[in-house]
Amino acid sequence: MKEIVPAPPSIVRNEQESIRALFTKNVVPSYGRFELVLSHGEGSHVFDVNGRRYLDLGSGIAVCCLGHAHPAITAALTEQAQKLIHVSNLYFTEPQGRLAGELARRIGPGRVFFANSGAEANEGLFKLARKFGHDEGRFEILTAINSFHGRTMGGIAATGQDKVKKGFEPIMTGFRHIPYNDLEAMRQAISPATVAIMIEGVQGEGGVTPATAEYLLGLRALCDEKKLLLLMDGVQCGHYRTGKFQSFQRILEGVPGGEKFLPDGLSMAKSLGGGFPIGAFWLREPLADLLGPGTHGSTFGGTPLACAVALRILEVIETEKLDERARTLGDWLQHELERLARTYPGVVKRARGIGFMLGLELAENIPALAGSSQTAALQFVNRLHAIGVLTIPAGTQIVRLLPPLNLSPQEAAEGIAKIEEVVKALVTA
Ligand code: PLP
Repeated sequence: MKEIVPAPPSIVRNEQESIRALFTKNVVPSYGRFELVLSHGEGSHVFDVNGRRYLDLGSGIAVCCLGHAHPAITAALTEQAQKLIHVSNLYFTEPQGRLAGELARRIGPGRVFFANSGAEANEGLFKLARKFGHDEGRFEILTAINSFHGRTMGGIAATGQDKVKKGFEPIMTGFRHIPYNDLEAMRQAISPATVAIMIEGVQGEGGVTPATAEYLLGLRALCDEKKLLLLMDGVQCGHYRTGKFQSFQRILEGVPGGEKFLPDGLSMAKSLGGGFPIGAFWLREPLADLLGPGTHGSTFGGTPLACAVALRILEVIETEKLDERARTLGDWLQHELERLARTYPGVVKRARGIGFMLGLELAENIPALAGSSQTAALQFVNRLHAIGVLTIPAGTQIVRLLPPLNLSPQEAAEGIAKIEEVVKALVTA
């Protein structure tokens, strides 16, 4: 008689659980992570380990400006990796020199220093400010309330939000925070020790608030009058996200006197490398000479690999006119978010932002979201995850949209439809 051998149990691979377990055991728990384990991406979509697809309207917090797995980035990485990945800043390399030129061409006459992240780029600007005021004993940098400038000791000191400083006292001295978009308050705050003012052109983490044109022009005049440096943090709002290379170029477009505006220093990171780590700061001439040999440095900053990627990204953005896309599709998205605010005022308070840096501000006290320990923004973002869309919360009420610059009109429409689905469910819940 033939023996009946039972089939072996199928191998159940619960990657979600096993990867989560790796994190619990091995990774410093400094992030509040969503319950999503992502494995790969293509264009504006990412996939989790269970094969679910998500429209990525966050781009890794304004980083993946060409979406995921873009062939031009892959090609730049592989071509350069086969040639020269790294040699240190003891030597000259072509990609770094060319990239510096391309960045300066888009900003204004000046020179560029390369770092690896936004916080590091800002640290360089803080050091520049200290050097600038050193011989006169000036060192203080004024930044804005609700600003965000990174997580290093200098970054948290500069950031105008208490939550990033808590538990890390004593905080580095030399920073004070002043209300944003309030020129008179800034004027009043200047002390004999003040050497610089640093602002974001559009506050990102603080809730998607653009600077007004009057504020920017007023700060420039104030800095000139008081011999202060005007430093701008373009880490999140830069790199064409607003429809122009830098946010101040978009905000001041067509504004009398706007064409002459330039900050004295400007930090960049995030979209500059499209996901490959790179940061940079640009300095207006002749400030660059303040950072002479031996004053500042970075092992990896401006490595040929990172610069080759950044150069290719600029080429793609320019050839495909993705700046125009961020502007026109950004305007469309904003109109749609405004429509949601008009149609569902009990859920959506208003739309915020500019270009592809948008915020959906949720109404206070939405009954369907009451009674949870999570903020309204977090609950909204989680509900979007459940129907396949990634967005980023900012503060308690704001859901940020920071899509890739090559988002298609169909994808934008898909995103709005899904957001409306969540909004509608909150009205009727
Ligand atoms: N500056 C701004 C405006 C940012 O939004 C961020 C990050 O979110 C940073 C600086 C810090 O950049 P990084 O995380 O690359 O250090």
